[in-house]
Amino acid sequence: MKIPFSPPYINKVVLQEVNSTLESGWITTGPKVKQLEELVCKYTFSPNTLCVNSATSGLMLALKWYGIGEGDEVIIPAYTYAATALAVIHVGATPVMVDVENDFNISIEKIEKAITNKTKAIIPVDIAGWPCDYDAIKTLVCNKIELFNPSNENQNKLGRILILADSAHSIGATYKNQFLGSIADITVFSFHAVKNITTAEGGAVCINLPKPFINQEEYYYLRCFSLNGQTKDAFTKSKAGGWRYDIIYLGLKINMPDILAAIGVAQIPEYFDETLDIRKEIYKVYHDYFATKTWAITPPYKNEYRESSCHLYALRIKNITESIRDLIIEKITKQGVAVNVHFQPLPMLTIFKEMGFKIENYPIAYDNYKCEISLPIYPQLTKDQLNYIIRTVENAVESTI
Ligand SMILES: *Cc1c(COP(=O)(O)O)cnc(C)c1O
Repeated sequence: MKIPFSPPYINKVVLQEVNSTLESGWITTGPKVKQLEELVCKYTFSPNTLCVNSATSGLMLALKWYGIGEGDEVIIPAYTYAATALAVIHVGATPVMVDVENDFNISIEKIEKAITNKTKAIIPVDIAGWPCDYDAIKTLVCNKIELFNPSNENQNKLGRILILADSAHSIGATYKNQFLGSIADITVFSFHAVKNITTAEGGAVCINLPKPFINQEEYYYLRCFSLNGQTKDAFTKSKAGGWRYDIIYLGLKINMPDILAAIGVAQIPEYFDETLDIRKEIYKVYHDYFATKTWAITPPYKNEYRESSCHLYALRIKNITESIRDLIIEKITKQGVAVNVHFQPLPMLTIFKEMGFKIENYPIAYDNYKCEISLPIYPQLTKDQLNYIIRTVENAVESTI
């Protein structure tokens, strides 16, 4: 049996939406993107949503919106995908990496220790779809207001450290019975090909700022900024008499095209009504099985105030080294099951090593990583495939440890 790790979920509805967009005569940013933005708002209760070409650029856009740049610090977890840090570096700011907890997410205690008078934002990451403790982070930034040094209008208006959620994994996850997208100040979802909802490449920036911000106004600003700072988008300019425009910000060119938005438009309703539940069922099958194994550490999925979007099934194996883990992966792979590791802690990657980050300073991130194997989890998985994966993993682990 050959089982891929994370194939995109492409059904008839997707093909129809994409086809009708191709036939409509309009393929770049226009009505489909608008429709996708409205669907994200409808299903996550985010007040306003801007779609862009990736989560990475969405994070950069949010950091630029808050005027973050040289001399500023942004706190991020050491355990995440590189994009979280790269977005910070690309706007000229300094990433301050902190260690995580056993549940893979950023440590609140470590955030507190890392806050200085240069801290302008925190980027919590909901690893595998498991929400961070947003209330604890909010309490923390509110308690540190006296340290905050605002240097522009938006920073004065918010008056504290920005909470910018990297929710690349967690659309559909809930925190205290509310969907992510309506929790942090700004939440960024990824619609990359391997994520729960995809547009092949893409991202959504959910704007949920407190008063006196008017989220709709910030949406218009961000949309303009995402289109070269141009006052009219191509769709508006294409209408008769609409040719004149101006460039008013030093913007980015990170808009999402309609042809890609069409895929997301087809996927979102089905995801919230059906495929998210299928992911949860698969998660539960894994959970019920691996919870019976003394060698397994099962990942967090649900407690009284959080529920995961089940983006990854991050299995850990007790008391093994990195090389034993790699050996187990080799055995699983030989049986045709594609698995993965999420994530190599950032201090283990060349670019961050060269910046001076050392894995020794992030012991929990390393402990999580060294024994972690991510198993396939997606709605197309059949019962037979699921059983095959479980048997394969069991055999590989029990013949190795
Ligand atoms: C996938 C991912 C991103 C980047 O998403 P893109 O849409 O590919 O830019 C950012 N952060 C995390 C944690 C991710 O897994």
